[in-house]
Amino acid sequence: MKTVAVLGATGSIGTQALEIIGAHPGLRAVALSAHRDAASLAGLAARHDVSLVALTDPDAARAAPGIPLAGEQGLLELVRRSGADIVLNAIVGAAGLRATLEALEAGADLALANKESLVAGGPLVTVAARRAGRTVLPVDSEHSALWQCLQGAAEGSVEGLVLTASGGPFRGWTPDLLEAVTPEQALRHPTWAMGAKITVDSATLMNKGLELIEAHELFGVPYDRIEVVVHPQSTVHALVRFRDGALIAHLGEPDMRVPISYALTYPERAATPAARVDLGAPFSLEFLPPDLEAFPCLRLAREAGEAGGTAPCALNAANEVAVGAFLAGRLRFTGIAEVCERVLDGAATASIESLDQVLEADRRARAAAEQLVSVAA
Ligand code: NAD
Ligand code: MG
Repeated sequence: MKTVAVLGATGSIGTQALEIIGAHPGLRAVALSAHRDAASLAGLAARHDVSLVALTDPDAARAAPGIPLAGEQGLLELVRRSGADIVLNAIVGAAGLRATLEALEAGADLALANKESLVAGGPLVTVAARRAGRTVLPVDSEHSALWQCLQGAAEGSVEGLVLTASGGPFRGWTPDLLEAVTPEQALRHPTWAMGAKITVDSATLMNKGLELIEAHELFGVPYDRIEVVVHPQSTVHALVRFRDGALIAHLGEPDMRVPISYALTYPERAATPAARVDLGAPFSLEFLPPDLEAFPCLRLAREAGEAGGTAPCALNAANEVAVGAFLAGRLRFTGIAEVCERVLDGAATASIESLDQVLEADRRARAAAEQLVSVAA
């Protein structure tokens, strides 16, 4: 029996994870967190018979007196008290960084959906995992696919990694057309149903940019050996190039329950209800280069990743502010990349030494982005 703490339990990943856990006799949820939605959290806690719960938004927690663990401190205490074998971090945004580190320090394996924590503080996460002797289990579908393709790979045999991107709802659009994109249009993703922030990130291709950095941090492969290709069908989730010229791909219907299940049951594979790829009907797989002019966020992420240190943290923070402003109607769609570029250009970046330094870089980048948004509004 493996016990699991699910952070961000009310979200898209969190609820799918609880579905997997509920259906698997070898998995049991022992702690759940949510940000604001006390009623949904209570419903999930009752259904999965979990008594250890936390609400991270302090105001929401005050309004729900039955939940004593509140705020970020309450979340960290929940992680420690859970004693879980695996902490699944499905929080959205760099707000998940402290919980990522706490999970490893508490001696749990970390099933990581919260890519922003790795983008903001990758080196800290790697050190924490090594020090605790724990594993980071990728949940992001592309990274789960890479991890699966890498099983049994001999040291030195990998030539490079390939991440696929659906291209989002605006694939093929010109920069002019993108100017007028509304939040409603950006929230309609062609192949995946996800939370609002990552759906917008998928539309700008920032999601793939964050995933590029995530892949670098998880697998230690240099940026010039990580390719991104657009693959509209979202059937191939990632590929690994080996030095003999072989290319191993991971295929599946787009369904996050597969990578979630793999992370929670590794090294075993549990049955999942995911649809099967039908090889009986004719189908084709297309691969195209990304349009970096129409989607500059992917270029910015590569630049931030190559600059290293706190640059990815600053880019991520600027993006979180810009996406929030776009969803609130305070920033144009193309303004997201503009804000990110200006914050990245202006950010003083240094190599990462401490959590405080990362949190400070995050805070500064958010303030700079807020300033740019208010001028643009
Ligand atoms: P979501 O918006 O559906 O859910 C987010 C969860 O985090 C909710 O439970 C919410 O209550 C909680 N939360 C929000 N703000 C918080 C804060 N400040 N502190 C603590 N908790 C907070 O998001 P999602 O789509 O489930 O995505 C979660 C993470 O997984 C993101 O990092 C995303 O990039 C990653 N991811 C998601 C998918 C997907 O298919 N949804 C795929 C790959 C990776
Ligand atoms: Mg992904």
